[in-house]
Amino acid sequence: MDQLQIFSPATVANVSCGYDAMAFALESLGDEMTFRKNDLGKTRIVKIEGADLPFESNKNVAAAVAKRMLQDAGANFGVDIEIVKKYKPGSGLGSSAASGAGAAFAINQLLNNRYTKLEQLKYAMFGEEVACGSQIADNVAAALYGGFVLIRSYEPLDIVSIPTPSQLFVTVIHPQIEIKTEDARNILPKEIPMKTAISQWANVGGLIAGLHSSDYDLIGRSLTDHVVEPYRKKFIPHFDALKRAALDHGALGAGISGSGPSVFALVKGAEMAEKIAAAFNEVYKDSAIDYRIYTSGIAKTGITLSNE
Ligand code: ADP
Repeated sequence: MDQLQIFSPATVANVSCGYDAMAFALESLGDEMTFRKNDLGKTRIVKIEGADLPFESNKNVAAAVAKRMLQDAGANFGVDIEIVKKYKPGSGLGSSAASGAGAAFAINQLLNNRYTKLEQLKYAMFGEEVACGSQIADNVAAALYGGFVLIRSYEPLDIVSIPTPSQLFVTVIHPQIEIKTEDARNILPKEIPMKTAISQWANVGGLIAGLHSSDYDLIGRSLTDHVVEPYRKKFIPHFDALKRAALDHGALGAGISGSGPSVFALVKGAEMAEKIAAAFNEVYKDSAIDYRIYTSGIAKTGITLSNE
């Protein structure tokens, strides 16, 4: 195989109660990427469409991941990479993760499946370090594994795939404002009361049980975040109105996607996803902020090969 084209999904991390421990992948929003072997022995980004991103191979996540994998494998070829971004970086929808996980998946294919999934994940996590300074697993794990994932442990790295109920859909609104990762981190308390912790892990258990048994009501009841949302929602204009609109119109639950500014709602059925999209639109239509709204199924398999 000398060339391949892939689709690498957008991802929603945290999923309300699962701060830094849960994420899921979207079926119909993500990046298209092409990887082509070259005999220069170099990793090059040759095209970026849809976003203003670095071309340097130590700054662009896709190139950094590819370069390291090829080096570690002692490969006798280089790679030319094309990236077509379908949504903006900095959205809270795992833009760097889509690139990093996409590169890990594709380079593994070009190396005839040399690496296990967990090894690919570790390379993708290195990509997250390039993007944001730390090796966070949630978005990249969701992109690589698909569906819902639980990061049960970092040492050792333990990723648990959670089944996705067939009628689960998601609506996302991306208000196009910038939230600095530093601000989003700094606003969180360093410690939380025991009572808060108990309700949080009870909800994570409820969410996992609901996903396993396709109990949509239980999923909805569990999409409650006592730890992060009360602080971070201040950064997102009209957050309370968006959440109220989602719940009033029949969403199972709603919350902040990653560290924001995107807001997601999980819903039962494709029609409901459209209804919530309209409700989100009502909240934002008169605001001065630019925004995009997406509806999608949950990606069952993560990154996929496109037709070449
Ligand atoms: P979000 O998860 O909010 O979409 P990220 O945390 O993924 O955003 O961060 C995007 C950051 O990563 C930007 O600063 C961007 O310049 C950097 N970056 C480097 N390479 C890439 C890439 N290939 N795709 C996306 N972002 C990249």
